[in-house]
Amino acid sequence: MSDQLFSKLPIFIPKIADLSIFEAGIEVPVVLMDLHHTVWRPVVAQKAVELGEPIIVDPATVQLLYPGARNKKNYKKLSYGDNIVPETLYSNATERLNKVIIPAVTSQVNANACVIVAPAFYSEDTDDIKFTLNLTLLSETLRYLEEQHIQKPVFASINLGGGVLLRPQVRNYVVDMYSGDFKDKIAGYFVTINDLDARKADLDHLIGLADLVFQLSKDKYVFTKHLGGFGEVLSAIGGSGFSSGLGAGETFSVKNLEARKKGFGRNGGWTYVPEIFDYANDVELKKIGYQCSCSYCNGGIPNDAKNKKLHFLERRMAVMDSLAPLSREERIKLMKSSLQSAVSLVGQYVRDYASPFKTDHLQRWIAVLDTASDWEYMTESDEASLNQLLNELDNEQ
Ligand SMILES: [Zn+2]
Repeated sequence: MSDQLFSKLPIFIPKIADLSIFEAGIEVPVVLMDLHHTVWRPVVAQKAVELGEPIIVDPATVQLLYPGARNKKNYKKLSYGDNIVPETLYSNATERLNKVIIPAVTSQVNANACVIVAPAFYSEDTDDIKFTLNLTLLSETLRYLEEQHIQKPVFASINLGGGVLLRPQVRNYVVDMYSGDFKDKIAGYFVTINDLDARKADLDHLIGLADLVFQLSKDKYVFTKHLGGFGEVLSAIGGSGFSSGLGAGETFSVKNLEARKKGFGRNGGWTYVPEIFDYANDVELKKIGYQCSCSYCNGGIPNDAKNKKLHFLERRMAVMDSLAPLSREERIKLMKSSLQSAVSLVGQYVRDYASPFKTDHLQRWIAVLDTASDWEYMTESDEASLNQLLNELDNEQ
């Protein structure tokens, strides 16, 4: 994918809710805000626009179907319709347009967002009514934008359950459905997988996600949301980047939307350690004498919540910047060697300081890179011969 929309690729997209990045004067390629957070903290979205910092506003329609999330103070201020149930939306085009599409698009335009994210819901699997509903919403959003002469790049939101990742045919089906009819009209995708913690996920889930991202990235931007360090691995394989909060929000969980859950993220006293692709308790970091060279650590570890966030951002962006000028092959090689260094570093900390750091996820991520290293995008002639083969098989039956 060409990088006309973004100054470079791959990129980390920080999801923000406060001014800390702007106050620190950090230039980021683009920031992401949830729509209800722009209502909660209007000054943040305004500041982004004022500084000429591109902003993506997530219409947050995933939350719309869960009363626990929908009834929160700021979310209730959004102009989505009341009493929305997927079955009614599925059969009623006027409701789709008035209660979902128009509010989602209008609020992104009003917030000066640099792209339009089409409204979508979470669907556990492809046989979920919401999977079809999402495709309908996407095509109707594209039509509405055309009618209104709104010319901004459009992103589709793909929000799925982890089970989809385990079945290659279902993954291919998702890719087909999202790249067929809409192919020339959308710029890219935001992918979110429910309950995926990439540090705990098994190899099959991780390879499934890598394959989905790789296939979708053939000629489109693909950003995975709610992801930690594994986003760097995906960016080496073919993804355009990934997004999370600053040291928080690295897992998306529908059950948190269903239940009225307060507070998120880890408690203070933890720091992201890019060298081991993990978080570590500050007590452990002091024990090993960890020294960070970023602008916010003064050669030690970040000393408060704000510096922890900025440290996280600077270090994460540095990794993405190091990948940017490289070929796919070189990116994979670089990520693999960083992960291998992490494995030996953790080994050393465990031996010398009995540190509780883990290497399991690192080994799995290396295996993903090994598996993906010889993947190639299907060319049109590959697709034609595959279709021919499938037709022949059909005719034989
Ligand atoms: Zn630092």
